[in-house]
Amino acid sequence: MNAYVSSVIEYVKKKYATEPEFCQTVEEVLSSISPVVDAHPEYEKVDLLTRMVEPERMFTFRVVWCDDAGQWHTNTGYRCQFNGAIGPYKGGIRFQANVNPSIIKFLGFEQTFKNSLTGLPMGGGKGGADFDPTGKSDAEIMRFCQSFMTALYRYIGPDVDVPAGDMGVAGREIGYLFGQYRRLKGAWENGAFTGKGFTFGGSLIRPEATGFGAMYYLQEVLRHEGEEVKGKTIACAGFGNVTWGICKKARDLGAKVVTLSGPDGYIYDPDGVSSSEEKIDYLVEMRNSGRNRVQDYADKFGVEFHAGEKPWGVKVDVVMPSAMQNDVHMEHAQQIAANGIKYYIEVANMPTTNDALQYLMGQKNMIVAPSKAVNAGGVAVSGLEMSQNSERLVWTAAEVDEKLQGIMKNIHDMSVAAAEEYGLGYNLVAGANIAAFKKVATAMVEQGCF
Ligand code: GLU
Repeated sequence: MNAYVSSVIEYVKKKYATEPEFCQTVEEVLSSISPVVDAHPEYEKVDLLTRMVEPERMFTFRVVWCDDAGQWHTNTGYRCQFNGAIGPYKGGIRFQANVNPSIIKFLGFEQTFKNSLTGLPMGGGKGGADFDPTGKSDAEIMRFCQSFMTALYRYIGPDVDVPAGDMGVAGREIGYLFGQYRRLKGAWENGAFTGKGFTFGGSLIRPEATGFGAMYYLQEVLRHEGEEVKGKTIACAGFGNVTWGICKKARDLGAKVVTLSGPDGYIYDPDGVSSSEEKIDYLVEMRNSGRNRVQDYADKFGVEFHAGEKPWGVKVDVVMPSAMQNDVHMEHAQQIAANGIKYYIEVANMPTTNDALQYLMGQKNMIVAPSKAVNAGGVAVSGLEMSQNSERLVWTAAEVDEKLQGIMKNIHDMSVAAAEEYGLGYNLVAGANIAAFKKVATAMVEQGCF
């Protein structure tokens, strides 16, 4: 590896020893772009990488709210404005009990590269709070969102920083966050958020976009291998928005999603979750129930439930980890390889530990696709939502869907070309990192590297 690259990785690991997720993503991205740094000594001259791993700005804030029983609670809110070189900071808000500086920073770093891949003018950001929405009433969620936005509204805006959803934040929460923003600003700036309701500037297809985009990306990979999506079986994780979108598109394209997972275990449905409208709709119901249990699906449709287990031992054609970070460890990776699975398509942000990812990429007959490319369809349609808002117009679902397909094809093709340029073959992981890095690096250097 390039000596400058390894020195920056070591510097980050030492400086941020208490932030393991952030160190993990820095190591993964920087080791991929090592050949680019070899070819461009000018990056080391201006010490570009040390600047790149430092967020432009990151802050915490107090979020105080009152539950339905009159009890007061205090949470920590975060916003990380990681890199604004190619556009306003853009990225979701995550509400989950385990949210901490390491998680927000890793997500902001990943987002910077993901957004670069979309080809749209969006910088990288991320935010959230250590608030657990499980079991909270609608009124409690609303009060939490209002308090969160009261602290954050001064620091965001359509040309500054544009939040969206992530785990624990979807249409309902974005509605409450935007409502409070509008009240405080006294202005109709709906371009300050994406993932909004359709009555106030939300883009059609945005709720489905991450899942649809992942399936379009899979389609490109299969096309490259002379295969097609039709007839493939897929193991998914989670049962949220992303997995729901995958199921809908899998149904349209004739593939079968056979697993879902939750904190309580996984379900196996051999007929396919994607086999009926009723089953697909039930994912939305499960999420809205706030129970955070996948066993409810097994109880309702009479399929197998495996308590406390992950779905990575199931024999399928395609594995799509679509739940959360570090969901696939070395022992799961070995199981996936032993099952002879050819397509490992990451969907959630950083779902694979670095050692497991290296192991899977080293398998002779396996194709590994990285999440920052595969799940970029979500933020890409957010970018399209921003365009519609700034032009005060609304595109049809077909128009947005067509643009999304074009963007996903372009991300795949750009990654292939970038890996080939450095003699790395069909390496989608390195290709995505290289293509994304080059654009951000060029913008930073041309802007004087502040
Ligand atoms: N949270 C999503 C992601 O990880 C969406 C971000 C956005 O639309 O801004 O990309």
